[in-house]
Amino acid sequence: MILLKSIPKVDKFITHKAFEGLSKTLITKLTKEVLENLRNNILNEKIKNIDENSLVDEVLQKYEELTTPSLKNLINATGIIVHTNLGRSLLDKKSLEKAISIATSYNNLEYNLKEGKRGERYEHISKALKALTGCEDALVVNNNASAVFLILNTFCKDKEVVVSRGELVEIGGSFRVPEVMAQSGAILKEIGTTNKTHLRDYENAINEKTSMLMKVHKSNYSIEGFSSEVDFEEIVKVASDNNLINYYDMGSGHMIDLPFNLNANEPSILQIMKYNPSLLSFSGDKLLGSVQAGIIIGKKELIDKIKKNQLLRMLRVDKITLALLEDTINSYLKNELENIPTLKMLHTTLETLEERATNLKERLKDTCNCEVIKTQTMIGGGTTPNKKIPSIGLSLEYKNYKANKLEELLRKNNLISRIENDRVILDFRTILEDEIEKIEIILKNLFTKCN
Ligand SMILES: *Cc1c(COP(=O)(O)O)cnc(C)c1O
Repeated sequence: MILLKSIPKVDKFITHKAFEGLSKTLITKLTKEVLENLRNNILNEKIKNIDENSLVDEVLQKYEELTTPSLKNLINATGIIVHTNLGRSLLDKKSLEKAISIATSYNNLEYNLKEGKRGERYEHISKALKALTGCEDALVVNNNASAVFLILNTFCKDKEVVVSRGELVEIGGSFRVPEVMAQSGAILKEIGTTNKTHLRDYENAINEKTSMLMKVHKSNYSIEGFSSEVDFEEIVKVASDNNLINYYDMGSGHMIDLPFNLNANEPSILQIMKYNPSLLSFSGDKLLGSVQAGIIIGKKELIDKIKKNQLLRMLRVDKITLALLEDTINSYLKNELENIPTLKMLHTTLETLEERATNLKERLKDTCNCEVIKTQTMIGGGTTPNKKIPSIGLSLEYKNYKANKLEELLRKNNLISRIENDRVILDFRTILEDEIEKIEIILKNLFTKCN
């Protein structure tokens, strides 16, 4: 085992010129790994000689891999606007600039400037939300899942919560309403059947242990055919008549009406506020189009109670979240919806999409076969299940590549497409304007390489 004796010594190896300027601690750690691996390979007789240069390269490659950020930009050409795997809602650059300025300087997060004493963290956002929705008070937590948990834990511990069987949903990431409820300490009182729940089911379920009538947005499924559910407006009335809290976990929650008749049977947050509900909660980064957050709006008396729950401290949000959300809410207040990327994408006209697709097709005419097509997409993110929205796609073909092969090739170049009828489609609903040129470059590079 003479070879074992020639394994470089760590102390000397790390002084190699190639490692100059790099973190000595990390290089030492990686060197130990590489040399340990080398020792094993020698013992297993997988290696017959030692090449120091390739060991250096190996360490450098590991260094590069470890220190390159793992989160990176992708182009979403799937057409799914609220794509949970691709980061859900996009943020507006100008909103972020404001948030950066708040976060890189001291600020009045919990400081009352007028009186020179401690202020309230949630004051800023609740002021904006009151103005927009007419709610009595508001609170923001880490995400809507925490909002649901916090509300149930505050009001329904060891008490019954009435929920329709058809709304006991599981949304992505194994968030299951019955399980969240059990963890929060609330007792689930299921009513109705899978396909039908009537108002009388709610009325009949009420007893002295009942604390709340809750409605949950179905989010990622819909029931067709012989089915019915009770509108939240009626649930609010029954709850009020019986002195109970009513609460709607809206899931995505759209502040205002959506185009393409998407919310025909689903009132917006602003409409629901007219029913005078006790509590509503919804996500910050689904159709609202802002940062990840769980937003709770409703009666002041109830929100005061939630604020006293110790759990709030664990679920509280940072100044960056509050600054971003305040800016989005202000955009709604000022009716500057073009500052909300999610809504902007949803509202872009088919003519504009077609113009962009045709333009790209023109620029790619010497590169590959493509065709501008009318297509349909969905919003995604558990917002409007089974509802389609019209869109424009560019269908791509290259030589005799199969669709899944081509999709993979694009994906490896950070371009995420969709396969439809055995064809690769770039859906322009989610392609940002400044990404079109990037797509052109990606495709041109790719296809000249393949030639
Ligand atoms: C998405 C969703 C949630 C969870 O919201 P997050 O902001 O992702 O935590 C909870 N309830 C319903 C009905 C949802 O659709």
